[in-house]
Amino acid sequence: MKRTGPTPGLLRDIGEFGFIDRVKRRFGGPARPGEIGIGDDAAVLPSPAGKVVLSTDLLVEGTHFDLRYFLPEELGWRALSANLSDLAAMGASPVCYLVALAAPPHATVKLLEGIFRGMARAARPSGIRLMGGDTCLGEKIVLSITVMGKVRAGRAITRTGAKPGDILFVTGEPGWSRLGLRLLSGGRPRKPSGWMRKAMRRHLEPVARCEEGAGAAGCGAVSAMIDLSDGLLPDLSHLLAPGGMGAILNEKAFRLSPGFRKAAKELGEDPMAAFLAGGEDYELLMAVRPHRHDAFLRASRKFPAGAFPIGVVTRKGGVRVHRADGSWLAGLELPSGFSHFSSFAPSVAAAGNRSPRRRN
Ligand code: ADP
Ligand code: MG
Repeated sequence: MKRTGPTPGLLRDIGEFGFIDRVKRRFGGPARPGEIGIGDDAAVLPSPAGKVVLSTDLLVEGTHFDLRYFLPEELGWRALSANLSDLAAMGASPVCYLVALAAPPHATVKLLEGIFRGMARAARPSGIRLMGGDTCLGEKIVLSITVMGKVRAGRAITRTGAKPGDILFVTGEPGWSRLGLRLLSGGRPRKPSGWMRKAMRRHLEPVARCEEGAGAAGCGAVSAMIDLSDGLLPDLSHLLAPGGMGAILNEKAFRLSPGFRKAAKELGEDPMAAFLAGGEDYELLMAVRPHRHDAFLRASRKFPAGAFPIGVVTRKGGVRVHRADGSWLAGLELPSGFSHFSSFAPSVAAAGNRSPRRRN
């Protein structure tokens, strides 16, 4: 990001082209040999070997996010991370992204560039680059991100390949995002403690599991994969649905660390419910072929977020959880998913907010 002097005031002061020019200079980065980036009619880049993977998302102010409660950087970060997570869930490595933006003329350039800065920060770990987009005036902010990734031919992992007997693995520590949302719904704490900072970061700045997804695709042991956006149980049901399959999950195997339990207790949340139904964690859920288990374990040692087994796919439908005390949970006793993406707007907006946009 290059310094370009003081930020101009409003979008209407610099207009569409002035804004695009700034986006190009500050966020576009230099094109690589053989590439044409922002500035021409379209972007050009060498076609990657293997398969191209594409995904797009649309976010509308007031419906998906509310900038009274979230910083522009956080919106940008989350929006790009959610897209990267979709690539990761296919086993694809990120290549480039495009951003289409509508904004009212009275939007400040600072706010809009904050959104781009958040995206640029979320892009950094995977090296994905902004290669183009579209900008126009609109009544409210509408943000559409398109990501492109690549994967070796025959290696993309879909949601539909799981079979009975496959072992279910999940990356990272699902549930933290739910705890962060719960904390934020009471307003941002003025002096956040360690667990509070972790919970807020996991909600506001989730990290897409790109290395884990690509590693899963590369090891040849993963039969199906999905990213956790709605919650572990609701997203698991997508993996199980194709064959009318079910799963047995083992509570003793869940990663409910002492820090996680403490945070849940402070917030009055059931740790297992947050783990199983939290949502918006952007972890990856993988089904692993039992006879390729060793290959998976070798690959997963390199996952920055780690991966741990939580249960097994069964031929019989329905999900059952074997509790640590020996009892079973099934059907309506299971926690259901918390409402997806509401965290950007109504749920937080509704809760009397003390200091909505305070940075921790
Ligand atoms: P066109 O008239 O062909 O739509 P534009 O003037 O809208 O062209 O865009 C000029 C260049 O700026 C193109 O390379 C386009 O991809 C890029 N661009 C426009 N808006 C954005 C944006 N919001 N983010 C990134 N690149 C953008
Ligand atoms: Mg255009």
